[in-house]
Amino acid sequence: MRPLVGAKTQQLISRVFTPVSPVRWRAAQTRRSCGSSPNGEKPRPSMLRHLTSKIKATGPISVAEYMREVLTNPVTGYYVRNNMLGPDGDFITSPEISQIFGELLGVWILSEWMGGGRPKQLQLVELGPGKGSLASDVLRVFSQLRSVLGEASVSLHLVEVSPVLSRLQAQNLTGNYSQEAGAEDEPIYRRGETTTGLPVSWYRCLDDVPAGFSIFLAHEFFDALPIHKFQRTEKGWREVMVDIDPETPDRLRFVVTPSPTLASSTLVQADERRDHVEVCAEGGVIIQQLARRISEDGGAALIADYGHDGTKTDTFRGFKGHQLHDVLVSPGSADLTADVDFSYLRRMAAGGVVCLGPVTQRTFLKNMGIDTRLQVLLRNCADPSTRKQLISSYDMLTNPAKMGERFHFFSLLPHSRLSKPKKPEGLKMEKKSPAPLPVAGFSELSFS
Ligand code: SAH
Repeated sequence: MRPLVGAKTQQLISRVFTPVSPVRWRAAQTRRSCGSSPNGEKPRPSMLRHLTSKIKATGPISVAEYMREVLTNPVTGYYVRNNMLGPDGDFITSPEISQIFGELLGVWILSEWMGGGRPKQLQLVELGPGKGSLASDVLRVFSQLRSVLGEASVSLHLVEVSPVLSRLQAQNLTGNYSQEAGAEDEPIYRRGETTTGLPVSWYRCLDDVPAGFSIFLAHEFFDALPIHKFQRTEKGWREVMVDIDPETPDRLRFVVTPSPTLASSTLVQADERRDHVEVCAEGGVIIQQLARRISEDGGAALIADYGHDGTKTDTFRGFKGHQLHDVLVSPGSADLTADVDFSYLRRMAAGGVVCLGPVTQRTFLKNMGIDTRLQVLLRNCADPSTRKQLISSYDMLTNPAKMGERFHFFSLLPHSRLSKPKKPEGLKMEKKSPAPLPVAGFSELSFS
């Protein structure tokens, strides 16, 4: 099925794809992140100690609190720790597998900027930018298509909780052209200029990013936000908590609360049919913020993550060294993650914006022209090992059995983006008003 990509987007794609830049290949590198200690695999006991004292003091903690502490505790959190960039990564993400991924998202952003009426200011806002590779690939597309952007002034805004990753992003995106803020409570904690000459700022939370027409990107960000877990029991919904195992005091275990909690009374839908549900309330709040900004200032959000549409139950898991890892063992030494419930995100957007998707990564990338891009790169590449890598990264991103169907794309757009422009007043002749530009990547437009 041919994608519903507008003619203008196709022009953009062919313009990006014709002048073939030398292939910068990254598939052999794993995402070097956040898990292992530099000298080996010894778990750090401090996080476990911190959690057990907390539980001893105040009782079992919610899974959301557990996840928040383990991942983003300012001292020992998994994403915050100093040694997160050891030689053995814990997992790999699409932008790290191939530059094609970020290039196609760059084309999507330009297409939505055009669909939004080519405003004079364009803020590119990325939530959880990891190593900065996605932003870097997007900015390269912006440079190649500078003439399309015309006089628009473009700025980059990165929302990142990890000081260590923010330094790495700064290195990758600005070389040495960035500086930390003087005071700790500044909303912008680092600022600089990208190697392509754009202003870039770092924030701890979305609230601090200035208002204005913005395209928001969140790739593997929502899955890292804390979830609450709820279990249906004979007595009704109960919250799953983390407690100390009474038989082995340095071990943790899951328990179910004997009575409802505030979260179990407010976060589970009245008509819920599953027996076990995970709700990411923090993700819901971020979606509400995004929806408000997009409806007030224009723009779009593109969210890509593994997830489901309100069907899955227990998806909470850990990853360490590319292997599944028990979420309660050696907390702080492994990544914790849960599938994103897109039906919940749609509900939280509450009609303030149009929600598109989720569509699978395979569908989205194919609609964006990944096959054409691969062919162009292969045509211009004689080296057999690079050709092999190109094909295998394409396969990794799109194969339904690999990342192709596990990952999904979801978008928020202002209602005005998909409504037909009004006919100019006083026009007597019967003339059809032009259809809005189709949204690239999403083959079917669904309104919610
Ligand atoms: N988008 C990147 C990295 C994904 S890992 C990629 O796909 O390669 C998750 C990222 O989100 C990391 O950069 C992590 O530090 C950041 N992060 C996690 N929780 C966060 C929070 N609450 N606020 C801001 N950033 C967060």
